[in-house]
Amino acid sequence: MPLLVMKFGGTSVADLARIENAAKKVQKEVDRGYDVIVIVSAMSGETNRFVSYVEGTSKLYDAREYDAVVASGENVTAGLMALRLQEMGVPARSWQGWQVPINTTSAHGSARFVSIPRDHIDAKFAEGFKVAVVAGFQGVSSEGRVTTLGRGGSDTTAVAFAAAFEAERCDIYTDVDGVYTTDPRITSKARKLHKIAFEEMLELASLGAKVLQTRSVELAMRYKVRLRVLSSFEDTDENSGTLVCDEDEIMESKVVSGVAYSRDEAKMTLVTIEDRPGVASAIFGPLADAGVNVDMIVQNISERDYDDHPGAVTDMTFSCPINQVERAKKAMEDARAAGIINYDELVVDTDVAKVSVVGIGMRSHAGVAAKMFNALAAENVNIKVISTSEIKISVLIDRKYMELAVQALHDAFDLDKA
Ligand code: ASP
Ligand code: MG
Repeated sequence: MPLLVMKFGGTSVADLARIENAAKKVQKEVDRGYDVIVIVSAMSGETNRFVSYVEGTSKLYDAREYDAVVASGENVTAGLMALRLQEMGVPARSWQGWQVPINTTSAHGSARFVSIPRDHIDAKFAEGFKVAVVAGFQGVSSEGRVTTLGRGGSDTTAVAFAAAFEAERCDIYTDVDGVYTTDPRITSKARKLHKIAFEEMLELASLGAKVLQTRSVELAMRYKVRLRVLSSFEDTDENSGTLVCDEDEIMESKVVSGVAYSRDEAKMTLVTIEDRPGVASAIFGPLADAGVNVDMIVQNISERDYDDHPGAVTDMTFSCPINQVERAKKAMEDARAAGIINYDELVVDTDVAKVSVVGIGMRSHAGVAAKMFNALAAENVNIKVISTSEIKISVLIDRKYMELAVQALHDAFDLDKA
């Protein structure tokens, strides 16, 4: 039997009517001849509610009990989905993580998959069951305790099952109808993509296009799981939504596929640091130890090379999420107090945003950076920091120009045209 994985997010199972709507989509695939593994999230809002219960009970909570509480939302939807399917005449059975068992590490709150044995679910399919409904987001540790994978983790559960069961495809049903060239709330010219390469999706996902959990895309790329994002609130068919797939499957790839942004960035500059071997390590070591996620890094050129001119100085600039600024400041001040680094001043700018263009076509096309900078210059947007990777160019700019920059870049790269 060909097999599909279908994942329904929180808004897609928010109440009984929506669960019924989702179940109808499952039934349609069963009627077309598929065995289906359904992965469900908790009803929307439930996980947040459970988190607040835990936090309201215990400040320094035991992470095992956090997982025990927070994983329970998915148990409810899994059971309800199986019941609804049975009501519709579809043989279905639900599974909690420990029943499969979905074996994970013991890192409570951010567990990782160890193995997903197929035998129990395969045996149920062999008995004539058509659907296995599995609670997303959760697993079981080698100690036998319930674990969770981190917020948004059901996407990753879905991809892991698609890989383990060699599914034809993994369909992620959500409240948007696909992946767009940029956020449609910023420009009405944003266009839905029919296909996007894993690597592009990974850049867009980690840059803040909140459609899929980043880990799910990493996993899909590693195991070449074809992933489709589509709406559970529309009539859908084989061509609906956006297919996230290997770049070989994409015939006409544009140089740039999308424009991403991240609003909550901060820029920090250490003014006048020694320019000598080991200074970067002395700065970024303490930042890493403090759990600061440093993104862009720029070291200014020193007026003189250190080897010839002891005493040469430079500046170091880096960006990090805005809510980590206090932690970063403290790490730098502590390092200075301990004599690990020395600097004159730490300048913090919390009014910046990051805008990025992403596309696998950049690998083989020159001039993308020039075109990007040109478009920003035409709008008088000043660039503060630039960083590049093989398929991405990012700039840090004043936050008040973020929307303008996204629109200008979307136009410059003709992203509204297929
Ligand atoms: N219910 C979990 C959350 O809200 C997992 C998920 O929905 O993917 O994070
Ligand atoms: Mg989600």
